[in-house]
Amino acid sequence: MPRGTVTSAATGDRLLSVDEARNAVLAAISGPTAPETAFLSEARGRILAEEVMSLTALPPWDNSAMDGYAIRSADVATATGEAPIRLEVIGEVRAGTAPAIEVERGTAIRIATGAPVPARADAVVQVELTTPADATGAPTGERGRDAAGPLPATVLVHEAIRAGTAIRKAGDDLPEAIAILSAGTRLGPAAIALAAGSGNETVLVHRRPRVGILATGDEVRAPGRALGPAGIPDANGPGLAALAEEAGGQPMTLGIAADRLDDVRARLKAALHGDLDLIVVSGGVSVGPYDVVRAAFAEVGRMELWRVAVQPGKPFAFGVVDRPGGGRTLLFGLPGNPVSSFVTFELFVRPAIRRLAGLPADRLVRSVDRAVLVEPVSKSPGRRAFLRVVAERDDAGAPVRDERGRVRVRLAGGGRGQGSHVLSALAIAEALAIVPEDVETLPAGAPLDLWWLDRD
Ligand code: AMP
Ligand code: MG
Repeated sequence: MPRGTVTSAATGDRLLSVDEARNAVLAAISGPTAPETAFLSEARGRILAEEVMSLTALPPWDNSAMDGYAIRSADVATATGEAPIRLEVIGEVRAGTAPAIEVERGTAIRIATGAPVPARADAVVQVELTTPADATGAPTGERGRDAAGPLPATVLVHEAIRAGTAIRKAGDDLPEAIAILSAGTRLGPAAIALAAGSGNETVLVHRRPRVGILATGDEVRAPGRALGPAGIPDANGPGLAALAEEAGGQPMTLGIAADRLDDVRARLKAALHGDLDLIVVSGGVSVGPYDVVRAAFAEVGRMELWRVAVQPGKPFAFGVVDRPGGGRTLLFGLPGNPVSSFVTFELFVRPAIRRLAGLPADRLVRSVDRAVLVEPVSKSPGRRAFLRVVAERDDAGAPVRDERGRVRVRLAGGGRGQGSHVLSALAIAEALAIVPEDVETLPAGAPLDLWWLDRD
């Protein structure tokens, strides 16, 4: 590996486009992390490494959809409100017990929701259509009121019931031994319920990518430390760790480095003894006298690229380290300004984490919605801009769309909220609106692509 050299993919003065840079980052990833077995209780948000099969049919056996009586529908074919049919109640079946007896002609078995339907019953009459009665057929309670309480000797059925009523047939939700979730699926709550409900205790998922987070800057102070005359609290360390976790990674803090090559280099080297998949460094990546991150990257690994046409987000650096023990660590140098680091994380780091976590190639960046910006804005020419925006809302709280279905958005925090240091505007932003490279000024009402920050 050539050490100490900067081999930028950007030739001459040309900046890489956002897409070129993202493709270069993704090209450095050979595939997702290794699969491992995880209990479902630990699997939320993780990506399946193989499909999940149903280990049982669902329901496993015919069961009752209602509290009521398992009956033979032919017995009550002529039942009406005024002329109910009387059936002998010969037993009861509760959820979690197997029925011991069968429903004979003229009889009924009281049944609870979710209990197995006894043999020879072909319908369940819900308790609301019945009245409990004694052996002579005299009512012993109100209609529809005996789902609990002592078992009546007989029951009056007030309506004809069609065969199959209120019976959930075995397998009508899922057959046994079919694929129910495919590899590459992100396990949300419903997928976990499905896997568990069909008999799975564990699933094979990709290991969460391990993400080291290093803040840099002589002025940057850890939480709780006095700021002194020239300090600022560390926003990026905690912010980037949260972004890494939300992207599906497992963040680990590498602390705050001083603006000195030896400090940054030592922390990177120490971190590389672990098996981190990515290291995300914020600050110190520019070309100022104390910006040492690119030099540190070039010393511990090799630089892949560092000039991207994006606003905010210049400068950005990307390098790789092939670790002596095997495995590769991706190095990301993000700008120190918190908004810039947030946007460059979104553009380049998040897709890399998602790829490593096991998501398929078409799920790495957010889906695009369409918007109109209701106020004018200007930006640097030649760079793709990512504006922090909020949606107009109607009285019900829903985003307002124009007649062509485009979300009406305005700048978060007003025009001054677009500064790359303005955390207060970033914090209220709901989405990023994307302004193409060739645009310099946008009039009010201009159409834009939109990434909602809370949607995949
Ligand atoms: P740099 O990229 O190092 O030139 O930093 C650009 C700006 O971001 C400066 O105003 C820094 O003080 C600020 N900055 C750098 N790191 C952080 C951090 N971790 N938290 C908050 N602000 C930071
Ligand atoms: Mg700095």
